[in-house]
Amino acid sequence: MNNIKVKKNINLLNYTTIKIGGYTEFFAEPSSIYDLIEYLKWVKLNNLKFRIIGAGSNLLINNTFHKGLTICTRKLKKITINKLSGYVETECGVMLPVMANLLAQNGCEGGEWLIGIPGTTGGAIFMNAGSGNLWTSKYLLSVQVFDTKNLSIYNLNKENLIFKYRFSSFQTNEFVILKANFMFKPNKNIKKITDKTKQNLKNKTDKQPYHLPSFGSVFKNPKDNYAGKLIEEVGLKGFSIGGAQVSNMHSNFIVNNGDATSEEIYQLITVIQQKVLQKKGIFLHPEVRMIGY
Ligand SMILES: Cc1cc2nc3c(=O)[nH]c(=O)nc-3n(C[C@H](O)[C@H](O)[C@H](O)COP(=O)(O)OP(=O)(O)OC[C@H]3O[C@@H](n4cnc5c(N)ncnc54)[C@H](O)[C@@H]3O)c2cc1C
Repeated sequence: MNNIKVKKNINLLNYTTIKIGGYTEFFAEPSSIYDLIEYLKWVKLNNLKFRIIGAGSNLLINNTFHKGLTICTRKLKKITINKLSGYVETECGVMLPVMANLLAQNGCEGGEWLIGIPGTTGGAIFMNAGSGNLWTSKYLLSVQVFDTKNLSIYNLNKENLIFKYRFSSFQTNEFVILKANFMFKPNKNIKKITDKTKQNLKNKTDKQPYHLPSFGSVFKNPKDNYAGKLIEEVGLKGFSIGGAQVSNMHSNFIVNNGDATSEEIYQLITVIQQKVLQKKGIFLHPEVRMIGY
């Protein structure tokens, strides 16, 4: 356990895209998978709580004190792409837009939509992040995980995991995703893929408030419906509580107008749920993950 260097009392605000976060008792940003495992063993040895943050792009962290260790994976960003086969190996902290651009440069098709999702591969597998009917699981082959219960490493094939709309088995087990392998379509037209990747980003930034702090879509779309459409229909587009506002660009986004607190965001989520339930009879399930609630 030579590499254990934890920081103390770190504000997690700068580790989330909504720019809100409480203090964590201990904080670590491992720069190798080996170190990540060492931290997880240290947690177990000291009987501490822990939580994993990727890019923090799907997180609402309560502005309180969080006991235990928070581990951010964003320095685990090794990626290799075999352009002849389309086979990709990534560490869990690789950002999806980085992967999208590298795929395009190497003529590998299938990842053009990843450009608009500001998360890590670990977070994307955990969330089964997606765009339309394209999900992270579609291109996934296997995942290497660390089981925090028995401190073992496993390689799991996709077939042994469950993936649904914004759901993966990792939401119900105690595995930390270390690495992942994907397969894309090789030997395709680089210009065509690059153009499509650029266009996808433009489509997103034209319609969604990328210029303001947010955590992307707040709610999962109900079956055969859209959360944003329902929120707009009950008259909540642009509605705000303090610094937390339902975006005027896209009603399934809540933006932080500068000084929003976690309480204001949480209240706004609750108001939306109540109003949509009252007026439409539909309960909106949050997509965003909450820490400390
Ligand atoms: C502007 C914007 C646009 C977005 N657009 C989309 C979109 O189009 N589609 C979509 O699906 N999402 C979208 N999102 C949401 C978000 O980017 C995705 O859910 C993303 O996959 C989250 O990745 P992350 O690394 O930020 O995870 P985090 O937010 O850091 O964490 C999310 C969850 O994953 C867990 N986790 C992270 N890494 C690991 C790991 N290595 N092992 C185990 N658990 C882990 C965390 O503990 C947490 O529970 C958007 C967000 C923003 C801000």
